[in-house]
Amino acid sequence: MSPPNPNPLDPDDLEKARDAALDAFSAVAVLADLPAAKTAHLGDRAPILLARRSLGTLPSTERAEAGKRVNVVLQAVQASYDARKAELEAERDARVLAEESVDVTVLPDRLPVGARHPLTTIQERIEDVFVAMGWEVAEGPEVEHEWFNFDALNFGRDHPAREMQDTLFVAPEGSGLVLRTHTSPVQIRSLLDRELPIYVICPGRTYRADALDATHSPVFSQVEGLVVDEGITMAHLRGALDHFAAAMFGEGMRTRLRPSYFPFTEPSAELDLQCFECRGASAEPGGEPCRVCSSEGWIEWGGCGMVNPAVLRACGVDPERYSGFAFGMGIERTLMFRHGVTDIRDFYEGDQRFTLPFGMEA
Ligand SMILES: [Zn+2]
Repeated sequence: MSPPNPNPLDPDDLEKARDAALDAFSAVAVLADLPAAKTAHLGDRAPILLARRSLGTLPSTERAEAGKRVNVVLQAVQASYDARKAELEAERDARVLAEESVDVTVLPDRLPVGARHPLTTIQERIEDVFVAMGWEVAEGPEVEHEWFNFDALNFGRDHPAREMQDTLFVAPEGSGLVLRTHTSPVQIRSLLDRELPIYVICPGRTYRADALDATHSPVFSQVEGLVVDEGITMAHLRGALDHFAAAMFGEGMRTRLRPSYFPFTEPSAELDLQCFECRGASAEPGGEPCRVCSSEGWIEWGGCGMVNPAVLRACGVDPERYSGFAFGMGIERTLMFRHGVTDIRDFYEGDQRFTLPFGMEA
């Protein structure tokens, strides 16, 4: 039941209508409810507006006085509405600011971006060292013919490396195919394919019939270097290895060669790297013990030597005119002592907790 229209001639009636409007506006709690209150008290059919409309029916002698009274009330109601609206808007703005504020100290929910595998990054780093000296990167197949993997590299027919316990042969028996046991067949392919002189670096996966344990894996990566040119001596080999060692482990890092034997090089040498941790100090009298090199002062890194003339001849290169050097080392092993990795299996298990920190390295 709507209240009776106020009589514009009755101040009490108008005041009641005004008070009802003021109460209604102050009772509105949220901005969304304000339009309904406005319609009720300031809309076309609101009591005060109806009272103003009825002014025209009044005798002209009373109209001016009544009109003034209605207008005063109407202005008060309008002012009350405006004030309440401003209040509610201010409350809403304050609430939005509080609710939508950003806490910059909260840890972000970052999407995992992935990381490159350390074997890939170090392989590219090694390539960069040699490409910067004008060498080329050479690659070859992982399923290789025995001739490339053994014969051309001067392995005798009965060399123990050709036996089943060392080499993975590809079926059927007698196919002559093996999973390459080293990256050295890429040297042969380079000698056959490329024009002399040759300066190549050959990184890649290799396979041996080893059980998987902390230091062995049936799949591992090697990098080999091969140079064949006129007048190449062991001094060039030493220079290249020292430069490589400095690029991988820091300036001034030294290498050491120990006499050894490989079918494809003559003379051959084991390649040792000065311990990057103690720089050899642990092997001096009274030196602090070193965990990295077991206080030897040196770490075994790989093998090297001058290319055997028999290998050059197998590839149609005249050993009277050309000579060369070759070296090779395991990439996992290089990573293991460069980063203190103690279990080779970490490289193959795909656990991101292991690979992610390496991914930070560009
Ligand atoms: Zn050491």
